[in-house]
Amino acid sequence: MQGVASLVLMPHKTTGTRCSVSSASTEVGAREKSPSLSNPSETKAKEVTYSALIGDIEDGGLKAPHLDSIIETQRILCCKKLASDQPSNWKKIVLHYLEPVGGKLILCCDFDLKKLPIKLPAFYEECFKSFAKCSAATHTSIQDQNRQDLSKAIVWNNKFICIGGKSVYFKNLAEKGILRIGDLISENNEFIVKSNYKLRELNTSPLDIFRLISVIDALPVEWRESLNTLASTADEPFNLYNEIKLIISKTIYKELRNRIITPPTAQLNFKTHFVNDVLEWKEIYSLPFRTSLDTKSREFQYKLLNRCLITNSFLNKIGIIPSPACSFCGEMNESLEHFFISCRYTKDFWAEVIKWFDNQGVKIKHLSVKDIMFGILRCEDKLLINHILIIAKQYLYSCRQNKSLPSIKVLNLKIKTIHQLETMIAKSNNKLKAHNMKWDKYKNY
Ligand SMILES: [Zn+2]
Repeated sequence: MQGVASLVLMPHKTTGTRCSVSSASTEVGAREKSPSLSNPSETKAKEVTYSALIGDIEDGGLKAPHLDSIIETQRILCCKKLASDQPSNWKKIVLHYLEPVGGKLILCCDFDLKKLPIKLPAFYEECFKSFAKCSAATHTSIQDQNRQDLSKAIVWNNKFICIGGKSVYFKNLAEKGILRIGDLISENNEFIVKSNYKLRELNTSPLDIFRLISVIDALPVEWRESLNTLASTADEPFNLYNEIKLIISKTIYKELRNRIITPPTAQLNFKTHFVNDVLEWKEIYSLPFRTSLDTKSREFQYKLLNRCLITNSFLNKIGIIPSPACSFCGEMNESLEHFFISCRYTKDFWAEVIKWFDNQGVKIKHLSVKDIMFGILRCEDKLLINHILIIAKQYLYSCRQNKSLPSIKVLNLKIKTIHQLETMIAKSNNKLKAHNMKWDKYKNY
């Protein structure tokens, strides 16, 4: 418990909101030294937000760990341990603090820490705060409660049932079996305070009756109106801890993390270039991870999809180079779209690539702008074609850095090397069958 305690008590935000995925270390180094880097929006396009990086691959993330969610998961697991029947010394302490609100019962209540008549030590307060964030019992509002949920909601420590501004817990009544709102209703669909038979059955004292009346009076008006149509819950067993015992850290972490995830900002930028196209982002993001085994290809496509690749247009904007002109033709501004698609040298290169595919026995009539940027999402030989497309873009970009023009012969050599590399990986992983299916049409010459 000590270890967990030291991990979870962190008063400040532990993680930043932005994380830089740089394109080339030398260029980024130069960028950092640049005195003219005054407008943050200029550099925005070269970063992936942290809230996007923590997402799953198909959502454009890299499954980066989200520390705040990990810490909150640990806090919630502490509450799960409290719910378990296993005796422990630390539980004695926390249960002592929780005694005025019914001990473990609090875990099933729709509580609000501020409305509880107790003050917990800081560590447990943090744990219960995180627990309330995820607990189904605390995710309610007065209006949204449907009738069945309402009758099952716990009366005690309920943030909507307050007397003198605080939620209440009457031990005597709880021990007599009055736990849920449905327990306040008798078989005749009226409040039990009106049923002498029920009150006798419960063996209530005048003080108990007085408390029952005050609790019923404190019910929100919306609930009181629908209560006379509620069924009594007298026969249903109370076993709410079971749900808490079943929670697992992975599920809690995902739930907490999913509340923070945002889509990569580059999506918006691409949408302005592809106004008439439907972009299937899940497919687009996961494609490079399915097509290529080599991490360099995956990394390159990830940077392209997040528009993190440096272009002359960008370097010029931030004052590092005097001209935004394209590295190949020198005639137009070197934007990502110009460099990978509309430059005349690039166009010639893609025509050569289509011929190369033709020699391999793979028929591609035309490569659209969408195909080049995101890959061909539906086609025969999908894995091979899309991997080659990524290698080709990677090669184009390396030509820009080496200040040379692209040549299909060099691309062919690169493909050869990657094929050899993937064959070795497939052999060592015993996955030759899948490997051979992917490279089936590839003629190694
Ligand atoms: Zn050009």
